[in-house]
Amino acid sequence: MDTDNDLLWTDAGWRADTGDSARWRVPGIANLHSHAFQRAMAGLAERQTNPEDSFWTWRETMYRFAARFDPDTLHAVAAQLYVEMLEAGYTSVCEFHYLHHAPDGRPYADPTAMSRALIAAAQAAGIRLTLLPVLYMSGGFDGRPLGERQRRFGHDLDGFLGLLDALRVDASDTLRIGCALHSLRAVPADAMRDVLAALPAASPIHIHIAEQLGEVQDCIALRGARPVEWLLANAAVDRHWTLVHATHLTGAEVQGIAGSGATVAICPTTEANLGDGLFPLRPYLDAGGRWGVGSDSQISVSPIEELRWLEYGQRLATHHRNIAVQPDGNSVGETLLRGVLESAATATGNACVGDDRITLDVDAPQFAGMTRDDAIDRWIFSGNRNLVRDVEVAGVQVVHDGRHRDRDAIAMRYRAAMVQLLE
Ligand SMILES: [Zn+2]
Repeated sequence: MDTDNDLLWTDAGWRADTGDSARWRVPGIANLHSHAFQRAMAGLAERQTNPEDSFWTWRETMYRFAARFDPDTLHAVAAQLYVEMLEAGYTSVCEFHYLHHAPDGRPYADPTAMSRALIAAAQAAGIRLTLLPVLYMSGGFDGRPLGERQRRFGHDLDGFLGLLDALRVDASDTLRIGCALHSLRAVPADAMRDVLAALPAASPIHIHIAEQLGEVQDCIALRGARPVEWLLANAAVDRHWTLVHATHLTGAEVQGIAGSGATVAICPTTEANLGDGLFPLRPYLDAGGRWGVGSDSQISVSPIEELRWLEYGQRLATHHRNIAVQPDGNSVGETLLRGVLESAATATGNACVGDDRITLDVDAPQFAGMTRDDAIDRWIFSGNRNLVRDVEVAGVQVVHDGRHRDRDAIAMRYRAAMVQLLE
């Protein structure tokens, strides 16, 4: 793909030279990190439980909520989420899925039931899905067993590989089956080696890494290295890998990830919501690193907001403006959009994701008088009105005039599921 003219098209398929075109289209955006069920708890973890509230206290709330889902409620919540994603301009999603079993930890009669609920939700909404079943084996770096509330996440290696095999049968242009390791603390080193050896060569592999300082300290204490440092030394990390968060990095780790060809999935609104920290974007761009964004905990379902806050976090930390620019251009918006496009195919494992198109709402006042040179910056930096008008995925138009084709029916099922979940 020619990266000099892949950001903006007019009706005729040419890059726009003037502002008078009827239709301005941009590529669909890949959401590299999602836990669909967490959509249902957005806004429900914002009361202080103690002055030391952190990621770890949030996680307790999340576990209580996770325990209430079954395949039907997961389907209803995921379908609603995917509709919201499409209306916002995400046309593919990587679902980091660990809610595998019944709440007591026993597999469902069909062990793929929860995975299939997500697949059916994605098909109902019409979004491309890269399903990443998660291997989750231990409750900490010391290898302790899963806690009671983590039991429904767990697999032994054979059970996990069986799940991947069962799901791969259904893979298609709009459904890819990859693999996720929950984190280094949840996957012992020998199990990681075994699962990696069993994967097909081009399988996408995603892992949560270095999100929390506590996790970095535990990794140093028990594995003698920082998480990213350890991973790079113990796995053949390459462009098929996506490192989720990678918030706490040394300069050497920044260089190491960039040199490996892996993608970092940055989730700025969730990382802010959880108090994780700021990804070192400028050094990472300087090192030529690949990156994309994810909606993760779903407290925001907007690629625009993720991109904007990725840049704003850097501005707040450095007291400067216009940080995310590349040597070949000075537009922050274009740098950000190009970044997410360049990682999309390998991080999702789907070369077709670049074919999806979204049509901007050129009649919105925010676009008055726009030109080719300012269209992307205006889209990303002009506020919170959704400027996505139409969305096409795999050649099918799923959003017309800002509305998903099944918005009302899917929202109705979501409301019924929420009544059940909040009972
Ligand atoms: Zn996550």
